[in-house]
Amino acid sequence: MSDLLPFLPWQQDIAETWLGQRDRFAHAWLIHGLAGIGKRQFALAAAASLLCESPQGGMACMHCAACQWLSSGNHPDLRRIRPDALAAEEGAATAEQDTEGPKKAPSRDIRVEQLRTLGNWFNTATHRGGWRVALLYPARAMNVVTANALLKVLEEPPAHTVFLLVADAPDLLLPTLVSRCRRLPLPVPGAEQSLQWLESEGIANADQWLAAAGGAPLLARQLAQSGSGPCPDWLAGFISGLADGRGQEIGALADELEKVAPEIWIDALQRIFVDLSLASVGTPVRYFPALARHTQRVAAQASAAQLSEMGKWLAQQRAVANHPLNAKLFTHSALQRSALACLPAG
Ligand SMILES: [Zn+2]
Repeated sequence: MSDLLPFLPWQQDIAETWLGQRDRFAHAWLIHGLAGIGKRQFALAAAASLLCESPQGGMACMHCAACQWLSSGNHPDLRRIRPDALAAEEGAATAEQDTEGPKKAPSRDIRVEQLRTLGNWFNTATHRGGWRVALLYPARAMNVVTANALLKVLEEPPAHTVFLLVADAPDLLLPTLVSRCRRLPLPVPGAEQSLQWLESEGIANADQWLAAAGGAPLLARQLAQSGSGPCPDWLAGFISGLADGRGQEIGALADELEKVAPEIWIDALQRIFVDLSLASVGTPVRYFPALARHTQRVAAQASAAQLSEMGKWLAQQRAVANHPLNAKLFTHSALQRSALACLPAG
């Protein structure tokens, strides 16, 4: 797997300014912003720029020995610290997989051992005395124990080492950890630039996908490649059922959604509730224009306060979506609450 990626077009300028101050670079950065705008790629491209032996205008040259190591995914001075499940999704060979014994599902957390084993790495000299870069993502995959272990490391930072932490929502992280990092907020790119990029990626109906993704181009591409339409079929069925006053088969739908990553379907529910809230005050919907007719009908009958409460509840659930105690129960109750929130007021 290649570790050598360029900066995305909308991140070039920020990267140039940021990397321009590398002689007084902080040792820990918190790169944060909306999900799906390319924060992970930004961090990887930044790592390449820091490790490159002959950077061009601050950016990785893509040709030197360091860049070639990155390209073959084995630069000794780069570590990715991420949940095993994510490593598997990204196609990395998981070193710690047992070949015998019962198969355990790969962890969705960053394990504290992953930080403890870094000690040896910190004590090894870097290649030609350059930087060492630790990429940690997503930061919210750290539990309190892991976050405290990282905090300890950052309190006595190892020499020549830069930590790049990636987070959607820094407010959900341990405040003492956040205070040890310099923040680098990444903005949502302008629609024109995003659409241009999506089209260059061969995505048809780019504008609809970008709307469905709330303006986040990488999420838009992911949704487009997921095989369904800009609006998930289940969501269309759910909202049209509510609009027509048909009963909801929550059980069957919950079974279907159990196979989808929780953050994907919660995001979709969150977005439809934003649309519902917009429709309830007579504003055009934002995310699912194709469902506008149904959304408006539901919004006309439901209580605006109830819709907005539901939106808040979903936002809270989104933060813990990777750790439901009981996935089936959680899916079921989220759908039931959503349906109830859409019932006629009073
Ligand atoms: Zn290079």
